[in-house]
Amino acid sequence: MSEKNALPLKDRMKIARTHMPELDATVRSRNFEEVNLGLKVLDAVTEASRCIECAKPGCVVDCPVGVKIKDVVNLIYAGDYLGAAAKLREDNALPAITGRVCPQENQCEGGCILGKKGAPVAIGNLERFVADFERNSGQLGLPSNAPSTGKSVAIVGSGPAGLSAAGDLIQKGHRVRVFEALHELGGVLVYGIPEFRLPKSIVKSDVDNLRRMGVEFETNVVVGKSVTINELMNDEHYDAVFVATGAGLPVFLGVPGEHFNGVYSANEFLTRVNLMRAYQYEEYDEPVYDCRDKDVIVVGGGNTAMDAVRTARRLGARKATLVYRRSDAEMPARAEEVKHAREEGVEFQMLTNPIEFLGDEKGWLTGAKCVRMELSEPDESGRRRPVVVKGSEFVLPANVVIIGVGTTANPMIQSTTPDLATNKWNYIVADEQTMRTSKQGVFAGGDIVTGGATVILAMGAGRKAAASIHEYLTSGVWEASVAISA
Ligand code: FAD
Ligand code: SF4
Repeated sequence: MSEKNALPLKDRMKIARTHMPELDATVRSRNFEEVNLGLKVLDAVTEASRCIECAKPGCVVDCPVGVKIKDVVNLIYAGDYLGAAAKLREDNALPAITGRVCPQENQCEGGCILGKKGAPVAIGNLERFVADFERNSGQLGLPSNAPSTGKSVAIVGSGPAGLSAAGDLIQKGHRVRVFEALHELGGVLVYGIPEFRLPKSIVKSDVDNLRRMGVEFETNVVVGKSVTINELMNDEHYDAVFVATGAGLPVFLGVPGEHFNGVYSANEFLTRVNLMRAYQYEEYDEPVYDCRDKDVIVVGGGNTAMDAVRTARRLGARKATLVYRRSDAEMPARAEEVKHAREEGVEFQMLTNPIEFLGDEKGWLTGAKCVRMELSEPDESGRRRPVVVKGSEFVLPANVVIIGVGTTANPMIQSTTPDLATNKWNYIVADEQTMRTSKQGVFAGGDIVTGGATVILAMGAGRKAAASIHEYLTSGVWEASVAISA
């Protein structure tokens, strides 16, 4: 019997949830170092000892990819950290990433039985612990590949969907080449999520592992422009294509004054900071408007808006303010990011909506005219609908405004592949189980099918697509379940 089983259940339930050590908020609000420092071995084991090993573990049920969390936690408690990492990898190819960015409170930790009466097991922190332990140990056991099948697969997009599909397909013995439009690999993981939440070195290490397994990568290729899907299949003889191009096209508010100098989409702002290295401002010329001692407003309440406002604060904004038209309760951003933003001095103007941006005669932004909102009955999304409070107009001074209210489908492939069915929002239509599209040999998954979702869901789609592509390549059978008129 393990030591753990000998610890009475009621004693395990008395152990307090272990705290994730963090960089001091005053220090970190002025640099781009990672905020969460990671659990030490002893803390991880203590945290693992809190698990009461449920017969029907809610944590597994609520994990979108069904990671065997109870077994992973048990292995940590037993001190077998590499074994825990291997168990985790059976269902999750990028655990160091998901351990850092998954919205655990709505997933595994939301389902943890301990959360019913107290604090759930800190599953995300444990996941990050084992993944980091494995990476730092230098003992990452890369899986071996099956003998070559002679088939080749082109993957378009190197975000979590594309990367996880690549990892599975190479192991099945297929040749895999990933085409990426940008000059860096990782999708939103590198161009969207900032260094202080997900260090680029972690993503690079996962990409390097795929390279070591034999996956080929080609950057600066915009499929649909440099080469089309038909050319990949007919001229370059790929047997299958997986489209994982994400939903990176920014949405604007459509209010007067969005043309003023100083108004950005969050997507452009974060890409400039992340890929043009504004976060290393001491070594690189800053490729964004100078935020130092300026007033910056970010519009939105999701992860993107939260990342943008915390980034602006780190770039030296005098005042970094988040403007959101609903209340705290409706904010889609991860709870931890909201907490961190508040600690870092971000100001929150809730139940507030900009209706116009103001500028000077030279075209430079000077402020945002806003109105206060109140919540009425729930709308079709189930969230309470914000309505304008009459006569509540006021002006917030601003030198920079960043719009982070959402994104939509990247359109390039759809416009150059006429036999690919899309829905009314221009997302690609794919069968939920097989990820097959209306075009023979073409599969699609991740945000380009679902709309903006989460890293773990994109990874799950990539893995499903890989299994389905393998089945197609080995059977040669294509049963279309999506029609072009979908
Ligand atoms: P993406 O990650 O968008 O990758 C698509 C890739 O395809 C990109 O690299 C793009 O350049 C490339 N591409 C596009 N068109 C072409 C083309 N024509 N040819 C070649 N390449 C092309 N989710 C979480 O779970 N937790 C978080 O904390 C979180 N924070 C986020 C923060 C931000 C700022 C953003 C924008 C999103 C965040 N998300 C978060 C959502 C999550 O990152 C996405 O759901 C996920 O990355 C989608 O993965 P994907 O592989 O489908 O697409
Ligand atoms: Fe352990 Fe919580 Fe999962 Fe139960 S639900 S097995 S307590 S982590």
